[in-house]
Amino acid sequence: MEIKVFTIFPEMFDGPLSASLLGKAREKGILEMEVINFRDYSTDKHRAVDDTPYGGGAGMVLQPFPVVAALRANLDLNEEDLEVILVTPQGAVFDQKAAIELSKKKKLAFICGHYEGFDERIRKFATKEYSIGDYVLTGGELPAMVMIDTICRLVPGVIKEQASFEDDSFYNGLLEYPQYTRPRDFEGMEVPEVLLNGHHEQIRIWRKKESLRRTWQRRPDLLAKYELDKEEEKLLAEVKAEELR
Ligand code: SAM
Repeated sequence: MEIKVFTIFPEMFDGPLSASLLGKAREKGILEMEVINFRDYSTDKHRAVDDTPYGGGAGMVLQPFPVVAALRANLDLNEEDLEVILVTPQGAVFDQKAAIELSKKKKLAFICGHYEGFDERIRKFATKEYSIGDYVLTGGELPAMVMIDTICRLVPGVIKEQASFEDDSFYNGLLEYPQYTRPRDFEGMEVPEVLLNGHHEQIRIWRKKESLRRTWQRRPDLLAKYELDKEEEKLLAEVKAEELR
């Protein structure tokens, strides 16, 4: 997958995109990433990319010219397998489903806003708009990093075992079951017996049931959207009976 990020703060991406799994995937050539500075496309002698808003008001607004010139110089905007994502609190809220869809694309581009935001005419050059939640950050850099990290770990080869993200919270619409590792007894808190017996079917059922319990207790909104199969219906009924006892 090829990812290009358009920003006025390229240095913010140095650490997060080079460390851990993303760094390894880049070394292996599974991911290619490039961070492009809008300022390099400014025609202003001070490399300015922002100006005051028409109609007055506080703050500065990113101008369309440097942003669009940067996009045109670095992307083929007519390419089919390219998604150009405008990073904005006014976009659809980014979730695991969006991440799965975007992980199937060959090329992604992220446009990071800053200051009071960007000139409205930039919207026309994006194919999608995403927000990371109902709050406002200083710039689109951190939201872009959140989305890039989420998408990239789903790209084949980035994580060794596919199963390790298929069990993750949200992947299948539920929260993940509780996880344990050594020691078996930590300050009197014991690992559930079923996880120690090596019986794969019992472990599968326990995990499914605990995943349902956790989602029912913490995120009933997710459970309301989830289609339960027969086994899950039975397990959820058991959970409810246990919890309401
Ligand atoms: N005035 C803008 C508004 O009310 O929609 C917010 C501007 S914000 C200070 C500057 C930039 O940060 C935005 O253009 C966007 O790129 C980014 N940003 C802020 N919050 C965000 C969020 N929740 N999700 C995605 N991007 C966000």
